Amino acid sequence: MAIATVNPADGRTVEVFDPLDEAAVERRLARAQSAFESWRLTTFAHRAELMHRAAELLEQANEQVARTMTLEMGKPLTQARAEAAKCAKAMRWYADRAEDLLADEHPAAADVADSGGASAYVRYRPLGPVLAVMPWNFPFWQVVRFAAPALMAGNVGLLKHASNVPRTALALEELFARAGFPLGCFQTLLIGSGAVEAVIRDERIAAVTLTGSEGAGRSVAAIAGDEVKKTVLELGGSDPFLVLPSADVAAAAERAVTARVQNNGQSCIAAKRFIVHTDVYEEFLAAFTARMRALTVGDPAADGTEVGPLATEQGRTDLEVLVADAIGHGAAVACGGGRPDDPALAAGWYYLPTVLTGVTPRMRIHREEAFGPVATVYRVADLDEAVAVANDSPFGLSSNVWTTDDAERERCVRDLRAGGVFFNGMTASHPAFPFGGIKRSGYGRELSGHGIREFCNITTVWSG
Ligand code: NDP
Repeated sequence: MAIATVNPADGRTVEVFDPLDEAAVERRLARAQSAFESWRLTTFAHRAELMHRAAELLEQANEQVARTMTLEMGKPLTQARAEAAKCAKAMRWYADRAEDLLADEHPAAADVADSGGASAYVRYRPLGPVLAVMPWNFPFWQVVRFAAPALMAGNVGLLKHASNVPRTALALEELFARAGFPLGCFQTLLIGSGAVEAVIRDERIAAVTLTGSEGAGRSVAAIAGDEVKKTVLELGGSDPFLVLPSADVAAAAERAVTARVQNNGQSCIAAKRFIVHTDVYEEFLAAFTARMRALTVGDPAADGTEVGPLATEQGRTDLEVLVADAIGHGAAVACGGGRPDDPALAAGWYYLPTVLTGVTPRMRIHREEAFGPVATVYRVADLDEAVAVANDSPFGLSSNVWTTDDAERERCVRDLRAGGVFFNGMTASHPAFPFGGIKRSGYGRELSGHGIREFCNITTVWSG
């Protein structure tokens, strides 16, 4: 795949970039190593000052950054602006809290005495240069949620971004440089995925984090495992959205639409499978379908657009194949199910918001991630069946449940196999809460104290 900016709204290639050659990659690795040796010695106060400066610059550049994202991957401009603002917030969150999150930990005095020591504590030290392999879907946020904690912990970052968002990748490098981070603290590597293995195997790389598909995650983690290097993987998801009889069904249907079509349906934590109790099934389906059908699909840079094009032509083809397979095996189309008729949208990679019912385990969409605005709605008889359908997925990223019944809530927290359970709302990331999944959704956590400690050398310091 060429490293290029291609506008998904009309398929036009805007700019093509030459990948870095081996010598250029080598220069950046050397720079990262040398930057780490001095960056790790800086104080939290100094790092925080620069991180706040980066947040400020990002806030000033919000419109420009948002337009770059929309141009490269097609998210509606309002959502791109919100993404940039959220990144600034996360930068400030880590700037203000990293020192506390990584403060020395002191075991109980009795345990220290039991070990035969006079004193003992745990210190969180940085690991070194961390390689981040990142996707195009939230091209700023996915990177910042890695970079803010990593830099605050004293690590340095190397970004291999998705090949379709090179301008965004370069904007990130420029942002940290303008904020005053020393040369080599945060660098973008414009390389294709084929060049990633050599970087992972380079002895100067201490660890790797990847957000993206299962295939990419498996490949990167296998190579890192071979080199005995730590990885964090944030892969796909097919999150369930349970609607139970005590729920406010109208509110659930309204939020279900946002949960499904945010980012043109291309979000790992988008709700994708809507599992609805039979008592409220008809009411939910009618309200949900009406709202999905009414969404404004169009130019992502235009005011009022709610759903833009898919980011890549391949992504749309994959979605079409998935929907065709479901229909071929008997699924019914409640709305959408194809490309828009509007000739003005013909050149872009648009796909209509779609609701499928009658989905069965024989259909690929039952087990695979639909990375676009396609929802599957299941009818279930009771909570037992709802939990069983929810867990019948290779993924376990997050989950959403609409109920006001305390016993049902407890049951869901106990039994839903996912890294999050969100009640009466939709899954969203926040700097204060750990983010990540189980099963094929990956391992490790981003954000919160858990995220910043993933790439630390957790050091026991003991004195006799
Ligand atoms: P990929 O997983 O292919 O891309 C994500 C990142 O990984 C990109 O930087 C990509 O680089 C890189 N990459 C891909 N393959 C390898 C490899 N073998 N070794 C090293 N790096 C690699 O995502 P796609 O864009 O192809 O999307 C495919 C599917 O992935 C989606 O349909 C969705 O299911 C899932 N996905 C999930 C995301 C999430 O947020 N969890 C985000 C994006 C996709 P390059 O662009 O150069 O190939």
